[in-house]
Amino acid sequence: MARKVLVMGEVRDSSLRNVSFEAIAAAKVMAEGGEVVGLLVGESVASLGSELIQYGADRVITVEDALLATYTSDGYSQAVLAVMEEESPEALVFGHTALGKDLSPRLASKLDTGLISDVTSLEEAGGNIVFTRPIYSGKAFEKKIVTDGLMFVTIRPNNVPALEKDAARTGDVSSLSVAIKDLRTIVRDVIRKATQGVDLSEAKVVIAGGRGVKSEDGFKPLQELADVLGGAVGASRGACDAEYCDYSLQIGQTGKVLTPDLYIACGISGAIQHLAGMSNSKVIVAINKDPEANIFKVADYGIVGDLFEVVPMLTEELKKL
Ligand code: FAD
Repeated sequence: MARKVLVMGEVRDSSLRNVSFEAIAAAKVMAEGGEVVGLLVGESVASLGSELIQYGADRVITVEDALLATYTSDGYSQAVLAVMEEESPEALVFGHTALGKDLSPRLASKLDTGLISDVTSLEEAGGNIVFTRPIYSGKAFEKKIVTDGLMFVTIRPNNVPALEKDAARTGDVSSLSVAIKDLRTIVRDVIRKATQGVDLSEAKVVIAGGRGVKSEDGFKPLQELADVLGGAVGASRGACDAEYCDYSLQIGQTGKVLTPDLYIACGISGAIQHLAGMSNSKVIVAINKDPEANIFKVADYGIVGDLFEVVPMLTEELKKL
């Protein structure tokens, strides 16, 4: 059944986040030959519309307002609901990001519909679109179909491959005027922590440090390895609790849930709560001096050794490639 699918594009620092293109690829499957409509919300986002089209959207709608310059659940939900009313799509796709996780349940409740969150893959099977999502902290997967009403999903970053960019692809980018009003939250200023390099949530390569790094300085060899591989540095809660790094790097049940192509765990024991955030990574390498460490049970490659010897050695070898 062909359907119209609305896809939320996410903008950060005036650029589209990768998850926007992955959401379009998911929307293409869900549309079953129907129309994929990109949606961009913000203060000045129209210029990004053509890129969504190059990644597979058929057309793009923008909602622009100074009050939408920074994300608020209140303002963005007004924008999305207005577009939903105008377009009446049969399906809606968000990234399973901080924005998607905040906005999608609110919209599902306002639209009185269900939500399949954190989808890691989807396919057409037996006349249905079947969505797969992890449960029990990634220990099992469940498959879901939508039998009635709006097909509303969030997709986990780095799982559904984006389509190839086609620079020759064109389509309509139109704007919808929405009166954003009665906001209960207004963001006056955003004060960001200085972040280095690649965004952890979207990184294809993650080098994570645990309590085994022993100090803030102990993260330096990990950062050097991450730089060589074009990756980002993450951490266990053990390392965050010990104040070796910021909590924004925490991976796990109560931190970020990631699925990079390559995850290198350095001095991390592999507690169940940590595994919940990384065990679905495509390739896992563990470096730990304890051969009995639990992390080796989920690792594809294990190196028993001192991370302060192994990590610089890896970095030097990779620099030669
Ligand atoms: P440790 O368990 O102390 O392990 C350190 C490892 O480093 C050891 O295996 C040791 O052999 C190795 N090591 C030491 N020195 C070296 C060296 N020089 N070279 C190589 N290896 C070395 N944890 C998370 O990570 N994420 C979460 O989201 C999370 N949420 C939690 C939620 C709850 C409700 C609870 C109760 C706990 C949660 N935890 C979480 C904590 C979790 O249970 C573990 O305590 C934590 O993951 C341990 O961190 P670690 O592996 O860095 O430290």
